[in-house]
Amino acid sequence: MLTVSAYAATAATEPLTPTTIERRDVGPKDVLIAIRYAGICHSDIHTVRGEWGDIAYPQVVGHEIVGEVTEVGSEVTKHAVGDRVGVGCMVNSCRECENCRAGMENYCLKGNTGTYTSVDRDGTITQGGYSTHIVVDEHFVLTVPESIPYEAAAPLLCAGITTYSPLAHWNAGPGKRVAVIGMGGLGHMAVKIAAAMGAEVTVLSRTLAKQEDGLAFGASHYFATADDATFDELANHFDLIVNTVSAPLELDRYLKLLRLDGTMVNVGAPAEPLPITVFTLFGNRRSFAGSGIGSIAETQEMLDFCAAQGIAPEIELISAEQINDAYERVLSSDVRYRFVIDTATL
Ligand code: NAP
Ligand code: ZN
Ligand code: ZN
Repeated sequence: MLTVSAYAATAATEPLTPTTIERRDVGPKDVLIAIRYAGICHSDIHTVRGEWGDIAYPQVVGHEIVGEVTEVGSEVTKHAVGDRVGVGCMVNSCRECENCRAGMENYCLKGNTGTYTSVDRDGTITQGGYSTHIVVDEHFVLTVPESIPYEAAAPLLCAGITTYSPLAHWNAGPGKRVAVIGMGGLGHMAVKIAAAMGAEVTVLSRTLAKQEDGLAFGASHYFATADDATFDELANHFDLIVNTVSAPLELDRYLKLLRLDGTMVNVGAPAEPLPITVFTLFGNRRSFAGSGIGSIAETQEMLDFCAAQGIAPEIELISAEQINDAYERVLSSDVRYRFVIDTATL
């Protein structure tokens, strides 16, 4: 066992505080990673505040992890000591079900093992990336290309793959009109990735406050959803809409922006059920879908794509003691566009 520094939530209503946690011994197929940077995802906040259900405390969250391999097990072949690697939202899956066999570990029928709040193979609850080290099975460890700036690479492991996967699956590319709702951590990566794929990208943000940034990230158009005229102007317009909003939205209003056979994919994860009027789907034969992170192979594909395209998240590097302030700033949408913790400060 390795005792390592971390920041943990101790209750839904308490700030995160410094602590130590235990990491398991490195098994034959395990990799020990010295974490350098960890991103703050809105899912971390939903989780520690109990918005998705009760969790056991203390709990360390964080599933946007990059660092260096410092030790490998005797049977590890995919990674070597010194490699720059990443870990995202999952650290294991059953590997036997239909979806795992198809290489879609994120959709494991028995539920993938999340990087935090999941029951690990040894029966303990997984603890996430706001820590200095983590031990992970090599299959769930990604290779992070050196050309991606180190600290900016971390958010790719969740915000990057969660937006890349639906954009790739629903064929965002030349000739496609893609809208991104909400320009936070996920949203700004959706804009960059969809633009790099060659789609015509429109941002649907509440106000025009971030318009200049959105256009710089590759969007061609930027609209304020606080303005009702937006919904008239863009009716029946988009092939694909990616909803990244962390709070409930009036989905019908947005579904009406889809043209014939258009699809709206929800990646935002508010706890509340969201009503949809089926007649809105009948019009234009519209589809409403969800998408959860991405597979390991697809995550590697996304990292290589971002390296080749020269795109990376916009980040604000913070120290551990700024985590609680950063949470408040995420909640007030005062994030430009992802907070990343320098784990040297843990
Ligand atoms: P974030 O950085 O807080 O961004 C969310 C954006 O949504 C905000 O920047 C804001 O955009 C918009 N927004 C927030 N509150 C709103 C409201 N009340 N009404 C309308 N718009 C609002 O969060 P994130 O880290 O990108 O995560 C977004 C959501 O995705 C979270 O629910 C998270 O749990 C979920 N998620 C899902 C997956 C998955 O696998 N499906 C993976 C990761 C995260 P504007 O300021 O531009 O309006
Ligand atoms: Zn996340
Ligand atoms: Zn499985």
